[in-house]
Amino acid sequence: MIKEIVLDGRTIEYTLVRKKVKNVNLRVDAGKVVVSCGPHVSVGYVEETMRSKSKFILAAIDKTLVCVNNSGRPTEYAHGERVKVWGEWCVINVRKLPDGLKRGRIIYEHPIIYIEVENPDDKHQRELAYENWKRSMVKGKLDEMTRYYYSIMLPRLNDRKCHSLDDIRYRIMKSKWGVCRPTIGVITYNYNLFEVAQEAVAYVVVHELCHLLEANHSARFYAEVARVMPDYKLREKVLKMS
Ligand SMILES: [Zn+2]
Repeated sequence: MIKEIVLDGRTIEYTLVRKKVKNVNLRVDAGKVVVSCGPHVSVGYVEETMRSKSKFILAAIDKTLVCVNNSGRPTEYAHGERVKVWGEWCVINVRKLPDGLKRGRIIYEHPIIYIEVENPDDKHQRELAYENWKRSMVKGKLDEMTRYYYSIMLPRLNDRKCHSLDDIRYRIMKSKWGVCRPTIGVITYNYNLFEVAQEAVAYVVVHELCHLLEANHSARFYAEVARVMPDYKLREKVLKMS
């Protein structure tokens, strides 16, 4: 019987097995919690026991499923996997989508990311729900940031008779956080900015917008960046560590 319990704010699934044992026995195997107890032990007592050992249970789950890469991008989209949202570590919690719902969804309650899908054992479903969410989060945040800094820079861009920003695009890129094509007024952002701290993301936005003023990375270019963002060097460092 698969059940759910909230331990220190995290919803944990566990399998309850009834058999001839004297105590409530706990086991965490590959991130899955299995509890065995005698036939007449109440669920209330089982869960009280689990709560008293919540630190041990959560640590055991995180240990078996800890994400080995430091990028903060998920590889398994699995229960207990650690991922980054805007530079901060969060933990994935997988659970079944409520009855009547078809489309997988994400409920984000920092630092917990609930992936809700029809079949929690199907990695493809978990990945699809997560990646769709990640993309919409990136678009929302980067569109907003770009509009904000663009409005600040607009008088300067008009003075210099620069091309207007006509389109913001997004894709996954291997080696660049952003690309600006000043002759056509198009900026493209990398979806993987999602794992980067927001102060560094804002630097990417300002950097790309400044390419509307200066195409290359000259001293004049960085003077334009500093005009909008005086502390850009610090943010650049944060970006390089991401
Ligand atoms: Zn550049």
